[in-house]
Amino acid sequence: MRRAILVFALAAPLIVIALWRLSPGAAISVLALSHALLLYPTLRPNVQWLGPVVTNFHTEGRELWLTIDDGPTGDTLALLDLLERRKAKATFFVKGKLALENPGLIREMVARGHSVANHSQTHPSGSFWCLGPRRIAGEIDACNAELATITGIEPQWFRAPVGMKNPFVHPILDRRGMTLIGWSGRGFDATMSNAEGVLRRLMPHIYPGAVIVLHQGREWSLRVIERVIAEMQDRGYEFVIPDQSRLKTKR
Ligand SMILES: [Zn+2]
Repeated sequence: MRRAILVFALAAPLIVIALWRLSPGAAISVLALSHALLLYPTLRPNVQWLGPVVTNFHTEGRELWLTIDDGPTGDTLALLDLLERRKAKATFFVKGKLALENPGLIREMVARGHSVANHSQTHPSGSFWCLGPRRIAGEIDACNAELATITGIEPQWFRAPVGMKNPFVHPILDRRGMTLIGWSGRGFDATMSNAEGVLRRLMPHIYPGAVIVLHQGREWSLRVIERVIAEMQDRGYEFVIPDQSRLKTKR
């Protein structure tokens, strides 16, 4: 699919030139379509047209994967206490720059049985979707290097800032043996402080094997995360970290 989209996008200008004299309207339509075919899977998280995006995992039980983005921030230790109290395991998708400033928090995440993964070095959320291959590779490599130095483990999972990935992202990940992790559902807690509202948005996407994304570092983060965990546990779910072999791109 990725190859077909790229070939069409590259061929589109030639088709437009060839069509222009015959039918300007058709030529403009081809141009618009080629842009849409690139922009839609880039800007829309979890669309698989450009390559696989993990959205759930195989499970025989009532298990969920909790992923927490944007740390390590000042609430990390309290968050780790919360997870311990709730007997929940999580994967932290962290920013390399913050990891460099707070290596002790990264070590603490791992020591308490959680896993740490790559959420880029500087989290360029407004521009990641339009960065070129060198900048994208640099963002991924720098974060991996920080985390490998701190934990001794090379991360194998990457989550793009705000979930946007352009056609360069998958080839870069493939060469590093890394996997792009999306989600089954998000509650928009990065900007929404109301825990009940977050839950309402999440619930339609919850099923055994679902991947939940929440955020740390907001004033309301602990409150929202605890509310979500409590609700899921009331429904009989437990929070686990699936291994690579259980990850799936389609439900
Ligand atoms: Zn983020």
